[in-house]
Amino acid sequence: MLYNRKLTKLFRNNMDRLFNRPYFFDKGLRFECQRCGTCCTGAPGTIYVDKNEVDLIAKYLSARTSCFIEKNLYPFRTGYSIREYTDGRCFFYNGGCTVYPLRPGQCKTFPFWVENLRSPKKWRRMSGECTGIGRGPLYSREQILEIVRSNLDTVAKSY
Ligand code: SF4
Repeated sequence: MLYNRKLTKLFRNNMDRLFNRPYFFDKGLRFECQRCGTCCTGAPGTIYVDKNEVDLIAKYLSARTSCFIEKNLYPFRTGYSIREYTDGRCFFYNGGCTVYPLRPGQCKTFPFWVENLRSPKKWRRMSGECTGIGRGPLYSREQILEIVRSNLDTVAKSY
């Protein structure tokens, strides 16, 4: 999910307040991607890729940027979104993410998205879909909020 301009502005303007209040994840959250692909498949959505990321992914796939764009992306805001198959599967998902080391920021920051961190209930619900939640290294409150901030910055820059 990508936030709309108004919501992003609201979050960014209140970052200090957002950073200085208690959260259910004050003691951190464990997460390690299990590469299960749940977040790369399923319901269709926008997978935002900014222009810098496009060059890096194209290079990773040894493709010419213009061909890569034409084949895999469509214009979205100031950047692009990755095409999906009719069943909602990401174009780069083929039994696993084929661009994993260079996957877009939106994918890298999952599941630490604002909507999943709104409440313990939302996080628990997401843990029923994302098998990486509750495993692996502990992300501190500060690390989590930094991820949220970087995500919102990316979204803000996309307008
Ligand atoms: S749903 Fe979670 S564990 Fe599965 S690929 Fe996505 S981030 Fe990784």
